[in-house]
Order: sequence, then structure tokens, then C-alpha cells
Amino acid sequence: MKHHRILAFGLLFLVVASLGAVVKRGGGVDAAGLPLLVALDVAAGLCAAAIVVDVVWHAYQGRGQACRYCGHLRRMSSFRLEGPCPNCGH
Ligand SMILES: [Zn+2]
Repeated sequence: MKHHRILAFGLLFLVVASLGAVVKRGGGVDAAGLPLLVALDVAAGLCAAAIVVDVVWHAYQGRGQACRYCGHLRRMSSFRLEGPCPNCGH
């Protein structure tokens, strides 16, 4: 599952981006229907929440920050990662 982290985050961004594109192509926010705007809001909220929960959860556990690419936990020093990931090099 950890190897699919970047896919999951990418997918969330993709959903938000494509919904935004649909709104734009449909004539902007004013012309878009309410359901579409709600869907965009929910998708954007989910996207932000997923990232925040991911960061806060690992920080709360005191095990450092999980690598965005492979999920490998890295130690943090004053909220900055210490160099590239030892597991995948990112
Ligand atoms: Zn990594």
C-alpha cells in the first residue's frame, strides 16, 4: 500500500484539477451548476485533508515524516527533513 501513496495523492490532485477544468470550460464559476461546485469543494477539501492528516498523524506519533514517495519514515529536525529519503532517494 505504501508504494501507492504517490498514486493516491496524484489521483486526488487529478480529480480536483479535472473538476476545475470542467467548471472553467462550462463558462466559469457563475455558469457552473451548484452540484458541480459542491463536488469541486468536496474534492479540494478531501485533497487538503488527506495531506494534513498524513503529516499530522506521523508527527503526532513522533516517528518523523513519511516520505511522500515510498512512505518511509524520516526523522525531522525542526520541521525540516534531513536530506533525501534513505529508502528511495527522493
Ligand atoms: Zn522515500
